[in-house]
Amino acid sequence: MLKMTAPRVNFYTGLSRRRFLQSLVGASAFASVAGLNAQGNPRRIDVHHHFQAPGAANTGLQWWTPKHSLEMMDQYGISLAMISNPGVSTAAYDGTVKGNEAARRSNEYGAKLVSENPKRFGLFAAIPMNNTDGALKEIEYALDTLKADGFQIGSSTIDKWPGDPQYLPIFQELHRRKATVFIHPFVNKCCKTLIPGIPESVVEYDFDTTRSITSMLYNGTLSSCPDLRVIVNHSGAAVPALAGRIKDRVPGAQTSNFGTPKTNTDGINAKIPKGVFYELRKLYYECAHAAYPFPIGALMKLVPSTQLLFGTDYPAEPMESTVDHLPENELPPDIQRAMNRENAERLFPRLKNA
Ligand SMILES: [Zn+2]
Repeated sequence: MLKMTAPRVNFYTGLSRRRFLQSLVGASAFASVAGLNAQGNPRRIDVHHHFQAPGAANTGLQWWTPKHSLEMMDQYGISLAMISNPGVSTAAYDGTVKGNEAARRSNEYGAKLVSENPKRFGLFAAIPMNNTDGALKEIEYALDTLKADGFQIGSSTIDKWPGDPQYLPIFQELHRRKATVFIHPFVNKCCKTLIPGIPESVVEYDFDTTRSITSMLYNGTLSSCPDLRVIVNHSGAAVPALAGRIKDRVPGAQTSNFGTPKTNTDGINAKIPKGVFYELRKLYYECAHAAYPFPIGALMKLVPSTQLLFGTDYPAEPMESTVDHLPENELPPDIQRAMNRENAERLFPRLKNA
């Protein structure tokens, strides 16, 4: 991990990690955490946090147990984590009944973890995207029976992106249910092992996420489902940096590349009647492993602070890779509170007391 200039300072106590741990000595962990609450524990809500289901594909994270998450959450002032299992996506997206069953098993296991820790975990359920009937059934089951807080889908679905017309009935149902959907990175089969020596996690996750949002934008999924609440991963991946270029290339909105003055500067066409920036500014963006001043700076130029959420991508990423870098942004306290917790409380009202 690249270290920036900041020391390992705890975001909410201002103590180095060592001093923070020393401060816990002599008191029970519970009392210390309770004390932190009084001193301004941010009680963060982490919307990018993963669980591992038994028998799942080898993701390299089999060491994980819920206890690992709970201990790290206590250490970093996180009161609740929305857990998701992107590790099931490949199995769940095969379009067969088996794929539906893989999503169901994962969702039921996630719901069990939530029921065992209802004040610490919430669930983003998986959807078998390539089996429309199975997807619609899973949405109903996850919301009505498992009481999921929302859904996690991949930025890709093996060989398509979410704006593909095939998925519109699924998004229309999510819109009808006013559901929250977390777009998690996935690598489309176009781009696996694209550049020798550069793992997919270096840039492909972010480029695929950017393709995913552009696909939902250009195909009219975002504008036709205005009650859908979408969370974009990793501070928007490349979306904030490319937003202007995405706007200027909207089909039918562009008057000319070559000298003719533009009359349509908002990227408006029949599928984006309110313009590109309007749609991008409605999305939510979580900051996992993208809390450096560069992505946060670009993101905050694009969206109001009401759209910022906290995330860690734990256990795939160490929490330090987010939390240690947030202070470098020198955000005002009201924006820190909004990002850490208050915006998520508006998305998920049941968390008000969590
Ligand atoms: Zn993740």
